[in-house]
Amino acid sequence: MISRDAAKGWLVSFAGAVAGRRDLLTELDRAIGDADHGTNLDRGLTAVVEKLETAVEPDVGALFTLAGRVLISTVGGASGPLYGSLFLKMGLATAGQREVNLKEFAAAFRKGVEAVMKLGKAKVGDKTMVDALVPALEALEVAAEGGLATGAALEEAARAAEGGAVRTIPLVARKGRASYLGERSAGHQDPGATSSQLLLRAAAEALRDP
Ligand code: ADP
Ligand code: MG
Repeated sequence: MISRDAAKGWLVSFAGAVAGRRDLLTELDRAIGDADHGTNLDRGLTAVVEKLETAVEPDVGALFTLAGRVLISTVGGASGPLYGSLFLKMGLATAGQREVNLKEFAAAFRKGVEAVMKLGKAKVGDKTMVDALVPALEALEVAAEGGLATGAALEEAARAAEGGAVRTIPLVARKGRASYLGERSAGHQDPGATSSQLLLRAAAEALRDP
C-alpha cells in the first residue's frame, strides 16, 4: 500500500531530484527552449515542499491536489500547468483515500497522464514529457496487472521513463517551444521528458514497500 506519508515522500524526493539536476534541466532547455525548465520546476517544487511541511491534508488525494495547485500557481512555463494537471487528476482519482494500492496508483497515474496529453495535445513522438510518461504508465500497468510488488513495478516504470526520455534525442519537436526550431530540435534530449524520468525514479525510490 502507498500511504499519505509515502505519497508526500515521493513529492519531496522528486523536488530533491529536480533541485539536484536543476542546471542539467536548464541546459537541456537552453538547447531547444528558453533555458528555464530547471529553474521553473525547482521553484514550483520548492513551493510544494514548503506547503507540505505544514500540510494537514489527511489523505493521498488531498496531498496530490495541493501539489497540483501549487505547481500551477508558481510555475510560469508550460511545464507548470502540465505537471499541475497530472497531480490534480491524480488527486481527484484518489480523493479521500488514506492509502492506495498499486492498481489504484496506476489508475490514478493514467488519469494524470491523460490530463497532460489533453492539455498539451501531445502524443508519443512529439518530443515532450509525454514520451517518458506514456511508456512509464504502460510499464506500470503491465507490472501491476502481473502482480509485481510496488517497488518492482515502479522500478519498471522508472526504466521505461528513462528509455522514453533517451528516445526523444533524435526526434523533431512537434509541441511546445522546441517545435519553433523545427529540424534543429533533433539531437537534443527533451527537458520535460528528462524531468518526467526523475518523477518516476523518485516514485521507485520513495514508494517501494518497506
Ligand atoms: P516553457 O516551454 O514554457 O519554457 P518549461 O521549459 O518549463 O516551459 O518546460 C518545457 C517542457 O515542457 C518541454 O521540454 C516539454 O517536455 C514540455 N512541453 C511543452 N509543451 C508541451 C505540450 N504541449 N505537451 C506536453 N509537454 C509539453
Ligand atoms: Mg523553457
